Amino acid sequence: MSFDAIIIGAGMGGLMAGARLARAGRRVLILEANAHIGGTSYIFRRRGFAFPMGPLSFSYPDRVEALLDGAGAGGRLSFRRNHFQLLTPRLDIVYSRPPAVLKEDLRRAFPLEGEGLDRFFDELAALFVLIRDIDRRHPDYALRAGRGAAGPAGDAGFAARISRIRDLGRASSRELLEPLIRDADLRNLLGSMGTDPPRMSLLNLAFMWASMSEIGIWFPSIGIHGICDRLAAAVGEGGGEIRLRRPAAHILVEGGRAAGIRTADGEEFRAPVVIANADSKKTFLDLLDPADVPPAHLEAVRRTPYTGSELCVYLGLDASRVDWTRMRAEHLFFQKVSGAADDPASDSEDFDGREIEICRWSENAPDVAPPGKAVVVLRAGSEFRLFEDWRTGDRTRKEGYREVKARLARNLVRTAEAALPGLSAAVEVLEAATPLTYRDWGRRTAGSIAGWSWSAEAAESLPSKILVETPIPGLFMAGIYAATELFLGGVPTALFTGSLAAAAALAYRA
Ligand SMILES: Cc1cc2nc3c(=O)[nH]c(=O)nc-3n(C[C@H](O)[C@H](O)[C@H](O)COP(=O)(O)OP(=O)(O)OC[C@H]3O[C@@H](n4cnc5c(N)ncnc54)[C@H](O)[C@@H]3O)c2cc1C
Repeated sequence: MSFDAIIIGAGMGGLMAGARLARAGRRVLILEANAHIGGTSYIFRRRGFAFPMGPLSFSYPDRVEALLDGAGAGGRLSFRRNHFQLLTPRLDIVYSRPPAVLKEDLRRAFPLEGEGLDRFFDELAALFVLIRDIDRRHPDYALRAGRGAAGPAGDAGFAARISRIRDLGRASSRELLEPLIRDADLRNLLGSMGTDPPRMSLLNLAFMWASMSEIGIWFPSIGIHGICDRLAAAVGEGGGEIRLRRPAAHILVEGGRAAGIRTADGEEFRAPVVIANADSKKTFLDLLDPADVPPAHLEAVRRTPYTGSELCVYLGLDASRVDWTRMRAEHLFFQKVSGAADDPASDSEDFDGREIEICRWSENAPDVAPPGKAVVVLRAGSEFRLFEDWRTGDRTRKEGYREVKARLARNLVRTAEAALPGLSAAVEVLEAATPLTYRDWGRRTAGSIAGWSWSAEAAESLPSKILVETPIPGLFMAGIYAATELFLGGVPTALFTGSLAAAAALAYRA
C-alpha cells in the first residue's frame, strides 16, 4: 500500500497536516490508535452530559481561524472569552485582564509592592513587543533560530532578536521576580498565575501572560472537538483517508530516510513522508529503531523532561443546588486552607492546601448539559510515578485501582466544595481521569499534559525551538511536542506545527 504521506495520529496536529496535504493533492493516510479522532481534544458523553478530555479553551483565536482557512476547514466562527480567577485564603483576583488594569488591581492588594510591580510590568511590556514582533513577522522564527540563519534580507535586527529569544528561553522567571517582589504570594501569582513558586523560563512567562492578558483565552462556537471534525472533513474532501484503531508500531527507515510505517498488527504502509503526531519521546524512543536516529538527538529527547500529568474529575451537576457566588470566572484556581492535622478526613491523598482548578465548562457551551444542569471539571497536578504501579498493561489495572480513583475523586470534590458550597449534593454524574488515563487513552508518554517542561533548563539540549523537522529526512513532527515552548498556547501550537509539517513535507524531495 503506497501513499504520499502517512500520518501517525489524528489529534489536532495530525489532522491539520493531513488536511493541508490532502488539499494540495497528496495521497494521505492517517492512522489513529484510538477509536475516535481528535486525540486529547476529544469529548466523551455520559447520561446526557458531554465532558472534554483535554483542552477547555485556547488563545489566539484569529490564528486558529486563519490556520483552518488555510487547510480548507474554514468558515465563520465566533468565540467566547473565558476569564481566570485565583482564590486563596489571602487573595481573590480575576487576573485575565489587560496588564495596566491588572497592575492597578495588584497595587491596591499589595500597596507596599508598587515599585516592583511597575518594574515587572515594564519588563513584561518589553517582552510582549519582542514576542509580538517575532510572531507577526517571522512565524517560523524558531526554525531559523535553530540553524542560526540570518533571517529575511534587509532585516538587520533579526539575528539580535533571535539571540534574545534564545536567552529568554534559558533565563528563569524566579531570577527576575525575586529581587523585585518581596511578597511570596504575589511573586507566585506573577510567576505561575497561581500559587506555585516561579519556575518557568522568562520566555514561557512572556508567552503565558501574552495569552492570558493581551490576547485572551477563548472558546469557539463549534466546540474544540468541532475544529477536529472540520479538519477530518477536509481530509476526506481532499481524498485522504483516516483509519481508526490502527496504532503505528514502527517507523520504517531505509537508506537513512523515512519509508513508511508498520502497524501493531504487522501491516506495512509505504510513503516517502511520515508525519508523527505522537509525542516526541514515543516517536524517537518507541517507534524508531535506535540505530536509525543520531545518538545525540536520541539522548536530547530522552533527557529533556515533559510537563507533568494531572488528576481530573468530571462532574455533571444539578446547577441549582450549587452556590456559585465565590466563582467569578469560568476558571477558578483555588487553594483551600490546609485541613487541621487532627481532621480525620485528611490524609495523604487530600487536596487541601494544594492548588486545584475548577472550570464551569458548560458556561461556554450550554448544549453539553441538559437544561438546568452544569458541567464542572476539577483538576489537580499529579505525578505519573504515583500511579505507575497500578498499570498492568494498555488500559488494564491491578485490583483496587477503582477504589483509589473513587477516593481521590471524592477528596477533590470535597476540597472544591469549600469554594462551591452544595457541590457534593449536586453531583449526578462523576467520572475521573488519572495520569494513567492520559497515558493509555491520551497516548502521551507518562500522561504528560502540556508539552515539554516549561522550566528554564529544560529545552536547552533540543536542537531548535520548532521541532517539526527531524534528523531523519522525510520524518516530520506535528502537535504540541513539535515546539519546545507552547508559544501560541496548546491548541494553536498544535495546529501551527501541523501546518508547518505539511509545508515541510510539500517542500521535501525524497
Ligand atoms: C488534560 C489536558 C488538558 C489540556 N488543556 C488545554 C487547554 O485548556 N488549552 C489548550 O490550548 N491546550 C490544552 N491541552 C493541550 C492539548 O492536548 C492540545 O492543545 C491539543 O489537543 C494537542 O493536540 P496534539 O495534536 O498535539 O496531540 P494529541 O491530542 O495528543 O494527539 C495525538 C494523537 O496521536 C495518536 N497516537 C499516538 N501514538 C499513536 C500511534 N502509535 N499510532 C497511532 N496513533 C497514535 C493519539 O491517539 C492522538 O489521537 C490539554 C491537554 C490535556 C491532556
